[in-house]
Amino acid sequence: MSRTISGATRVAGVAGRPVAHSLSPILHNAWLEAAGIDGVYVALEVGEDGFAAFVEGLRRTSWAGVNVTLPFKEAALTVADEAHPRAQRARAANLLVFGDGGRVRADNTDGLGLATAFAEQAPQFDARSGPVVVLGAGGAARGAVAALQDAGCRDVRIVNRTLARAEALAADLGGGAAAWGDAETALQSAVAVINATSAGVADGLTLDAPLAATPAGCVVMDMVYMPLVTPFLALAKALGRPTVDGLAMLIGQARPSFEAFYGQPPPANLDVRALALKALGA
Ligand code: NAP
Repeated sequence: MSRTISGATRVAGVAGRPVAHSLSPILHNAWLEAAGIDGVYVALEVGEDGFAAFVEGLRRTSWAGVNVTLPFKEAALTVADEAHPRAQRARAANLLVFGDGGRVRADNTDGLGLATAFAEQAPQFDARSGPVVVLGAGGAARGAVAALQDAGCRDVRIVNRTLARAEALAADLGGGAAAWGDAETALQSAVAVINATSAGVADGLTLDAPLAATPAGCVVMDMVYMPLVTPFLALAKALGRPTVDGLAMLIGQARPSFEAFYGQPPPANLDVRALALKALGA
């Protein structure tokens, strides 16, 4: 069934760089169609230094808002007039909603998506049961660290290529910071490890993480979902570790975003994971 775009169509989207690979438009547009909402959701690539101008240009239009992806999640918080406490804590936002008079409200639903993904694919995981290693220190890592702490994790270990960025995150939110060379030590007693780096997304590099150092039963999660089974997850599977994929997180963070844009939760009975898997060719 094709939809008609009218003058009243409510527009939202995802802004990032690169963004053409995003599956978010597939999820949101499928939900819009199933719910019979006059809305549309598009992907917008934003120039490297253009994020603030982009938001400034849209905030007083009829746009509902935007999801924000890499590398703008930290910038997204700074352009907002108000922010949900979880976004303030993470100092990063993945959701901007444009309100009356051009007010911009920021939120961070990545943590909700992460929790949903673990609940679906590794229900045995208990964040209170031991150390969790987060690889990366960008906007997504910030959301993950805050969500893990909210779930009761008292030992979050942030490992990043640029140590200073890991230290800055740990100074903001708490947790330990380590350089990439110390990943093996950090992983040795971990109950879970989460890849929140963008390695491989645009640079073609494969993440070189010493997963063999993890103990049996350590849950391995990759926020990257393209391909669904990344080399990181393939290595975890080969080691016999339980895994959680990034697609489950993407869908988990998209649900509250949809509700914020279109005023109602997405239809529960539509299998958007199957649609996304088809798009991924998985
Ligand atoms: P970001 O703010 O740009 O941060 C990127 C992070 O990746 C930084 O910590 C960076 O380290 C690290 N990195 C980049 N290339 C690397 C390499 N070759 N080796 C090791 N580390 C490298 O990006 P973000 O917004 O946090 O997003 C991170 C990833 O999470 C992206 O792949 C994004 O698509 C994914 N994500 C997925 C979901 C989902 O729902 N599945 C949600 C959010 C994010 P430096 O600090 O040293 O540069």
